[in-house]
Amino acid sequence: MRHRIAVVGGGPAGLTFACVLHRHGHPVTILERDPAPDARPPGGTLDLHEGMGQLALGKAGLLEEFQTLSRPEGQAMRILDTDGTVLRDWQPRPGDRANPEIDRGQLRDLLLGPLDVQWGRGVTEVVPGTRDGVLVRFADGRQETFDLVIGADGAWSRVRPAISSATPHYTGVTSVETSLDDVDARHPDLARLIGDGSVAVYGVNRAVVAQRNSGGHVKVYAQFRAPLDWHTNLDRHLGLNRRAGLDADVDMDAGLDLADVEAVRSSLLTLFDGWAAPVLDLLRHGAAFVHRPLYVLPVSHTWAHVPGVTLLGDAAHLMPPLGVGANLAMLEGAELAESVAAAPGDPDEAVRAFEEQMWARAGRWAKITAAGLERLVSPDPTEALALFDDVQSS
Ligand SMILES: Cc1cc2nc3c(=O)[nH]c(=O)nc-3n(C[C@H](O)[C@H](O)[C@H](O)COP(=O)(O)OP(=O)(O)OC[C@H]3O[C@@H](n4cnc5c(N)ncnc54)[C@H](O)[C@@H]3O)c2cc1C
Repeated sequence: MRHRIAVVGGGPAGLTFACVLHRHGHPVTILERDPAPDARPPGGTLDLHEGMGQLALGKAGLLEEFQTLSRPEGQAMRILDTDGTVLRDWQPRPGDRANPEIDRGQLRDLLLGPLDVQWGRGVTEVVPGTRDGVLVRFADGRQETFDLVIGADGAWSRVRPAISSATPHYTGVTSVETSLDDVDARHPDLARLIGDGSVAVYGVNRAVVAQRNSGGHVKVYAQFRAPLDWHTNLDRHLGLNRRAGLDADVDMDAGLDLADVEAVRSSLLTLFDGWAAPVLDLLRHGAAFVHRPLYVLPVSHTWAHVPGVTLLGDAAHLMPPLGVGANLAMLEGAELAESVAAAPGDPDEAVRAFEEQMWARAGRWAKITAAGLERLVSPDPTEALALFDDVQSS
C-alpha cells in the first residue's frame, strides 16, 4: 500500500521535497496556506550554492532550467564605507557558477512546474498518533489524515508544536525592507552603485544592503540593532530626536506608525544621518517599507522523534538571513524525498535517520550565521569587512 504523504508549506523546502518525491513516482499532497501562487509578493533574490540549493535542483531534474534563469553576474559584491568610499569590489570570474542569484518568484515557478498544489489550505494543527494516522486540521474547519506529515511551513510553523515546544526569539536586529523599480532608467546613478549584484554599507550597529533582482528591480534592506518595540519611542530606543532632523510629522509620543510610509522613510533617513548621499538615496527613493524583525530558533534545535511527523527548512532551524536558509531547506527537501522514496515499507526509519543528519548540519550553519549576524550588525563595522574577507579567502 502507498503511504499517504502530505507536505505543509509550498516554500523552497516543501516544493523541493514534493518535486523530488514526484520524480521518484510517489504521490504527495502539498498543502499551502496562500490562496494562489501570486497572492503576495514573492520576495527578493536568493543565491543558490553549488553544493546545496543547486544540488537539490539537480535531484529534482531542474538544474538546467535554473542555469538558464539564474544570474551568475549577481554574485558581484561591493562594500562601501559610510562616506561612500569603495572598500571592496568583488566581481565573479567568467564561468563562476558557485552561487548564482535567482528571483524567489522564478524559483517558485520553476519548482511548481510539475506539481499540483492545494492552495488556500492553511493548517492550524497537527495531531500525531490517532487511530487513522496523523490528523491535520485546517483553518476552514475540515480535517484529513495522512501517514507522514512534513512541516515545511516556515518560521511560525503550525506543524512544529506537534513535536517540539521551541519557538523563535528575536535576535535584537531589525530589518526594514524597501524596493526600487526600473532602476536603470529611473535611478541610473544608483544602478551603477549597485552594479550587477549587491552593495552593502556597514556602520555602527547598522547597515544598508541593496540587491539587484531581475528586470531592474532592487531590494533594499536597512538593518539595525534595536529593541523589538523600537518604533514605539524613537528617542528612547534609537536616540532619534528632532534636533537630529527627524521630520516634524513623526509624533514622538505616539511613536512611529509602521504603515505610514513617509514617517518610516523620515525616521530611517535620520537613523542613517551623515551617511553618503547615494546610500541615503536608496532609502529616499524606496516605495513601501516592510518591517521585518529578525527571529531565530535555538541554535541546536532537536526533538524526540515522533513517528509520522517531521520538519524541514525554517520550521526546523530558522536562522539569520545570511544566504543559507533556502539552500539548506531545498537540500533537506531533496534528501528527505530520496530517503522516503528508497524506504521499502514503513518510511519512519528513513525519517529518523534524516533528522539526525539534518540536525547536525543545520546546527553547524546556525552557529555560523548567528556569529555572522553579530559581526555584520556590530558596534565595530570593521568586523563586517573582516567577515567578508574571511568568506572570500575561504
Ligand atoms: C531578506 C531575506 C533574504 C534571504 N536571502 C537568502 C539567500 O540569499 N539565500 C538563502 O539560502 N536563504 C535566504 N534567506 C532565507 C530563506 O528565505 C529561508 O530560509 C527559506 O525561505 C526557508 O524556506 P522554507 O520553505 O523552509 O520556508 P518559507 O520560505 O517560509 O515557506 C513556508 C511556506 O509555508 C506556507 N505556510 C506557512 N504557514 C502555513 C500553514 N499554517 N499552512 C500551510 N502553509 C503554510 C507559507 O505560505 C510558505 O509558502 C533569506 C531570508 C530573508 C528574510
